[in-house]
Amino acid sequence: MKKILIIEDEESILLALEDNLALEGYEVSSATDGEQGFSMAKEHGYDLIILDIMLPKMSGFDICRELRQAGMTTPILMLTAKSQEVDKVLGLELGADDYVTKPFSPRELLARVKALLRRAKQPKKDIDRYRFGDIEVDFIKYEIRKKGKSIYLTALEFALLHFLIKHKEQVVSRDSILDEVWGDEVYVLPRTVDKHIAELRKKIEDKPSSPKYIIGVRGVGYKFKG
Ligand code: CA
Repeated sequence: MKKILIIEDEESILLALEDNLALEGYEVSSATDGEQGFSMAKEHGYDLIILDIMLPKMSGFDICRELRQAGMTTPILMLTAKSQEVDKVLGLELGADDYVTKPFSPRELLARVKALLRRAKQPKKDIDRYRFGDIEVDFIKYEIRKKGKSIYLTALEFALLHFLIKHKEQVVSRDSILDEVWGDEVYVLPRTVDKHIAELRKKIEDKPSSPKYIIGVRGVGYKFKG
């Protein structure tokens, strides 16, 4: 299930958004001020963030800029007040992916949400080679070396590592790992992810029991550091 975070201080808009998105089968979380929204956005593996601009404590612009500077690539849909062209341009410059002008119809908003989620599924800038700690990995040749020595990874472990590195410094949920690495059509339990993460850790971590690169985030998923 796709997880959406709404950061909006106007109660009537927030409630309408929550209802409409929940009806469509999304898992919705919300924050009513900028600071709370920012800390939620940083810590949890959301698939999309709906972000108002005028917010108490921290503006939508600041939230957007800070998230992007931290390397977060989660799609952001901004809510702008009517006819504020400047807001739209600034929002997109700061890294928002799209915007909807208030007042908006539920249908229009849902269409934008779906389009953004669909686009986010496509691979972004691909990583061919990557180096972290004493590890060098080549995703084109399917080669990985630790301290210069070749180690063996399965194709699935390569895909898993690639996904984690692509989303480094972000918390990724088990569901998003399943969607991306295993694909929608295969039925796998979230626990399967944990099993394969454990295998991957044994191969790349110095101490798999206290991992340095693939960090578990309790109740949410994993985060790659390196
Ligand atoms: Ca507002």
